Amino acid sequence: MFTLSSLPYGSSELEPHISEKTLGFHYGKHHQAYVDNLNKLIAGTELEEKSLEDIIVSTVGKAEKIGIFNNAAQVYNHDFFWKSLSPASAQKEIPSELLELISKNFVSLENFRAEFKAACLAQFGSGWVWLVKDGEALKIMKTANADNPLAHGLKPLFTIDVWEHSYYLDYQNRRADYVEAILNNLVNWNFVESNL
Ligand code: MN
Repeated sequence: MFTLSSLPYGSSELEPHISEKTLGFHYGKHHQAYVDNLNKLIAGTELEEKSLEDIIVSTVGKAEKIGIFNNAAQVYNHDFFWKSLSPASAQKEIPSELLELISKNFVSLENFRAEFKAACLAQFGSGWVWLVKDGEALKIMKTANADNPLAHGLKPLFTIDVWEHSYYLDYQNRRADYVEAILNNLVNWNFVESNL
């Protein structure tokens, strides 16, 4: 039985970049629904005893388990997304070792932001964009719908949800503005570093 993880900040603390209304629906309705659906789908099965990560890895690519995979991955992805963000007021400088690593892989922090934003805009329809660790390299990865790096044996470091439900109330169709607001104001660099 999974429960909705608590948000690492208050629901108005990401304003003005993500409104309390958006976060209220996104966390309280969408994320909650994935948790509820997952619990219904695994009730009475052997998956009930497994961790979220194990459920994701053991159901990926199995047509008869697609509903379980989608809901489990969406629970994981949203947990990871909330932790990827931090209120602007709590922002600290990017840790110097992480900055070095990003510069090594993406030339500069500015260029990393530009490439990440381009990937967010290039993701057609619903999905996620991730910073992942692939061996020693850092890479930007797009995934469709509920898919995520775990399902491909990669280690996620940071993500942005680009499903319309994550920005439509605040930005309507302007996905670029939503992504830019996050990349410039809400990235939890300490969380990114902790995943290395
Ligand atoms: Mn979402």
